[in-house]
Amino acid sequence: MIRSSAFANKSYAILGLARSGMATLDALHASGAKILAWDSREDLRKEADAKAIIADPLETDLSDYDAIIVSPGVPLNTHPIRDKASDDGVPIIGDIELFSQARRSLPPHRVVGITGTNGKSTTTALVHHIIQSSGLPTHMGGNIGVPILSQKPLAAGGVYVLELSSYQIDLTTSLDCDVAMLLNISPDHLDRYDGFDAYAASKVRLFDMMGSDHVAIFGSDDEKTQLALQLIRAEGRVENFVDTSGMILDGQADWPSLQGPHNMQNAIAAVAAAEALGLRERQWRPALKSFKGLPHRMERVAESAGVLFVNDSKATNSASTGPALGAYPKIHWIVGGLPKSNELTECEPYYGNVVKAYTIGDAGPLFGKLLAPHMPVDPCEMMLTAVQHAAANAKPGEVVLLSPACASFDQFKDFEARGDCFRCAVDSVIENKLIGAASGGRLI
Ligand code: ADP
Repeated sequence: MIRSSAFANKSYAILGLARSGMATLDALHASGAKILAWDSREDLRKEADAKAIIADPLETDLSDYDAIIVSPGVPLNTHPIRDKASDDGVPIIGDIELFSQARRSLPPHRVVGITGTNGKSTTTALVHHIIQSSGLPTHMGGNIGVPILSQKPLAAGGVYVLELSSYQIDLTTSLDCDVAMLLNISPDHLDRYDGFDAYAASKVRLFDMMGSDHVAIFGSDDEKTQLALQLIRAEGRVENFVDTSGMILDGQADWPSLQGPHNMQNAIAAVAAAEALGLRERQWRPALKSFKGLPHRMERVAESAGVLFVNDSKATNSASTGPALGAYPKIHWIVGGLPKSNELTECEPYYGNVVKAYTIGDAGPLFGKLLAPHMPVDPCEMMLTAVQHAAANAKPGEVVLLSPACASFDQFKDFEARGDCFRCAVDSVIENKLIGAASGGRLI
């Protein structure tokens, strides 16, 4: 756990005691802070009881407190805590800001901060893997894995690799990244922001916090990312920029878990980060090959009768599904769920790679209409039906890809449950030898 004298004898209110909230409670308590904590769940309040005063911050005078710590899941645009904090004159921050304030107490280290609409987790895991493979001490945290405050401090020379969602950046005011990376920006999470510009502005703040001699990396040629780059250049404060959008890197065929144009973008940005940290090609290149990828992101779940099954359940918008369709030439595409938009614009350039689409969930009828002029469409509604039909039609050398371009909440608890359901259905068609059944019986 990370402890810091920066928190000793200070007073904090914690709203939200899920994973990062509980880790914050532990770290602040161990550092000698006074804490008031609250969660709507009684079991969590009980768990926190020994280390904090349990009371609702909305009903407590917080004017003597040093900060209110909220979980990134709290929608600050609509939640009453924002007005309460402003009335009491207390800043609202998150666990990443606390980590930033604790850095003085840690052995000398560097921080890589990674944000973007899509590809954050993949790129964070990849940068972490490259650093780890090079033999340097490293942790990853933020929006991925174990909360950063519960991790053991790294030995001197270590590198913390932080995945930062825009919600986390909104709750951070002083994080000076040695390497700050913006992968891409496309419209997402617009329920939490006052429009696309406000969402983009939130990501740009990562660079406003960094020291002028540190390295800023921009990963994509999309309009907002390039605008962010121009803006930060024009300010003239940060000196070192790397725009990886036009760069190329050979060898992608050797990186099984980094297929598709989006993963090429991620790999190039990760290599730029590795080089900014002083690593050499002989260190990063083997790591691109040995990288195992993350579950539910272009995850190869099975190969049977020459057909590859890929789970990309994490693709919850069309900007992330588009490049997934670019990864393979003959795809049976399972698509749909709770739509975030009425269009599939970013998928359009790759329609030529789709043999057939199998629609599921709420978006089925809408997507059926959008796709029918371009490809055969099979309205399946349910995941099992879609996997059975796709497997039956697939020929050796083809790919069955779940890349839904939608949120999962119409039929599943979350994208993980959706990916697990896909995996179960794939296991079942393999076990029952149903692959290629449509072309005259069982192939295996
Ligand atoms: P995030 O953490 O930003 O949500 P993930 O790495 O979890 O990103 O990937 C989310 C989805 O986006 C996956 O379906 C993945 O295949 C896709 N994806 C990954 N990298 C990119 C990228 N650079 N551009 C667009 N989509 C991407």
